[in-house]
Amino acid sequence: MAKTAIITGSGRGIGAAIAKRLAKDGYDIVINEVSQEALDSYGAKTAEEIRALGVRCECIAADVSNYEQCDAMVKKVKELFGTIDALVNNAGITRDGLLLRMPEENYDDVIRINQKSVFNMTKLVGAVMLRQKSGRIVNLASVAGLYGNPGQMNYSASKGAVIAMTKTAAKELGSRGITVNAVAPGFIKTPMTDKLTDEQRSAMLAQIAMKRYGEPEEVASVVAFLCSDDASYVTGQTIEISGGLSM
Ligand code: NAD
Repeated sequence: MAKTAIITGSGRGIGAAIAKRLAKDGYDIVINEVSQEALDSYGAKTAEEIRALGVRCECIAADVSNYEQCDAMVKKVKELFGTIDALVNNAGITRDGLLLRMPEENYDDVIRINQKSVFNMTKLVGAVMLRQKSGRIVNLASVAGLYGNPGQMNYSASKGAVIAMTKTAAKELGSRGITVNAVAPGFIKTPMTDKLTDEQRSAMLAQIAMKRYGEPEEVASVVAFLCSDDASYVTGQTIEISGGLSM
């Protein structure tokens, strides 16, 4: 039976690159987006590209910060595909601003979407994987979660938590054949980083050993490794993908 992967927030950006790469590796794919509008405006196109690779691909709208919507999505995936072999917790947002000027709701929104979503999906899909006695979970953290970043008190808190949650889930699920790892990208070219100013971009570039930004496909290849049989004895780890941003 084909393996199935759910990638949250995978209509575009890094999530779409991960979905395409896992499809090339033979996984059937679930594209998730926050709303039907997001699926209609860009998720459906990503799904078409994936189907052209010869695997099955279904689109499901669910806000992953909402537990009930996650529950409904996981039930639907079980119904459609039978198994869930890989979960990539990719959905995320930024609401940047210096601490003293950050509205409380920008803090709460980022924590809810970047961090609570990982609890929701890992709990629900973890239960399915426990019964299967196998599974791969990969979380999208960030260098901001490892080192902090000015203007990202909310985002760095959420991603630091994701790294800690990765380790806890790895310890709880490891004895049942489930691995849980994280990747911590640096600056990757996507709609998320398109929002940054030229000043922010050049400050970032100056710190990158490889003197270039990363491509979504360069994150996808590391995630694909962590979802593969080659990574069977790797768990609880956070792999930085930043072109040598911090060493
Ligand atoms: P992006 O904004 O291009 O894509 C994120 C996707 O998540 C969007 O399609 C969005 O609609 C979806 N999404 C947002 N909220 C959601 C929700 N509640 N439920 C379901 N889907 C939701 O961003 P990206 O750059 O592709 O980022 C992907 C992941 O990688 C994020 O977790 C981000 O924090 C992380 N990351 C990105 C970078 C970077 O440089 N781009 C660096 C480090 C980490």
